[in-house]
Amino acid sequence: MKTVIMAGGRGTRIASVASDIPKPMIKINGVPVLEHEIECLRSQGYTDIIITVSHLGHIIKDYFGDGSGNSPVTGKPFGVRIEYYDEATPLGNAGALFELRDELIEDFLLLNADSVFDVDFDRFVAHHRKSGGLATLFTHPNSHPYDSGLLITDREGRVDRWLTKEDERPTYYRNCVNAGLHVLSPKLLEKRPDTEKVDLDRQILKPLAGSGKLYAYSSPEYVRDMGTPERYEAVCRDFAAGTVQARNLRNKQRAIFLDRDGTINRYVGFLRNIDEFELLPDVTEAVRKINGSGYLAILVTNQPVIARGEVTYEELDEIHNKMETLLGADGAYLDAIYYCPHHPHSGYEGEIKELKIDCDCRKPKPGMLIKAANDFNIDLSQSWMIGDGENDVLAGKNAGCCTVLVDQKQNFGQDLTATTLVEAVDKILK
Ligand SMILES: [Zn+2]
Repeated sequence: MKTVIMAGGRGTRIASVASDIPKPMIKINGVPVLEHEIECLRSQGYTDIIITVSHLGHIIKDYFGDGSGNSPVTGKPFGVRIEYYDEATPLGNAGALFELRDELIEDFLLLNADSVFDVDFDRFVAHHRKSGGLATLFTHPNSHPYDSGLLITDREGRVDRWLTKEDERPTYYRNCVNAGLHVLSPKLLEKRPDTEKVDLDRQILKPLAGSGKLYAYSSPEYVRDMGTPERYEAVCRDFAAGTVQARNLRNKQRAIFLDRDGTINRYVGFLRNIDEFELLPDVTEAVRKINGSGYLAILVTNQPVIARGEVTYEELDEIHNKMETLLGADGAYLDAIYYCPHHPHSGYEGEIKELKIDCDCRKPKPGMLIKAANDFNIDLSQSWMIGDGENDVLAGKNAGCCTVLVDQKQNFGQDLTATTLVEAVDKILK
């Protein structure tokens, strides 16, 4: 599969870090960002690369050549085949793709070199093939969804709406942000918009929203913009700490699983009304600490209100949108949400018969944790479950995790006990 790397951006906002080299040549750990990215691709067999260059592009060409030589910094072979597309006249970031149409005859990866990434590309491409759309966007939750562009998807991951920073957004929304990595079908290049410059997001991808052909692929792997000096410093710190590479899902992950009612939000019995959803004090701080720790933050919650017919799937999604919006307003995010909609006892009015089953996912069964472990390559023995009830402790133990009970008065055999979520997280991270 061919990979196109867009390396033509100017990056004026980090001129204070480096003004005389193109942004992808800025060094992290002594090695240009673009070299880290090419190495990430090479190590996974993606060796057929086209780099589109414009501003100061000769610096990139001089450094990498055709990819057959050795790195001037590390001395190791690049081990790839590189072609360049030189944008003599700026064509917008998608203009080059139309010029490269003859080479891009199969699905291809399109990567924005302005961000730092280390991801499992096979997994991303497999998802694209399985969904069968024309384009798949790599998405993730970030720490500032309130000023990021957002994607609104249906339950199958199809993008219904594409909201830019400036667009009006719903009160509550999922923290689902476009990370600038794509798998695209060459079918998208069949008809070039008849403008001089072509903008990828605005003219090619955004119009696909709502068509059923644009998909989101949500992943907790590391993709960060380094567009400001502060963000660049943060990326350097993450790189030095090994976080960038460790988050690649080809590596085993660690997670902190979180119960919802009574752990994240105030316990009100069966929560049916979105207005009753209220975060407990310091929960955003606790989740932020997990986000900064190298553990994934994954919610696992029993929601028998679905089986009981008291809350619809759509209403539950909206409650979770509220949770994500409140967390996101304070810089915190969940990497994934799992819920069990089932309930074992039937015979009630208004219930949904097919959900009245003895399932494998309702805590204390470990089904949701095991599903998450399969989805994100998690080592459960290195992971934790935090909750306020016996079912949480037992589900954690049944999955082979360590456990924290957020209730000083009970003992269900948990490994640690805490008063609040933030205290629980502090004890795990100590
Ligand atoms: Zn279930």
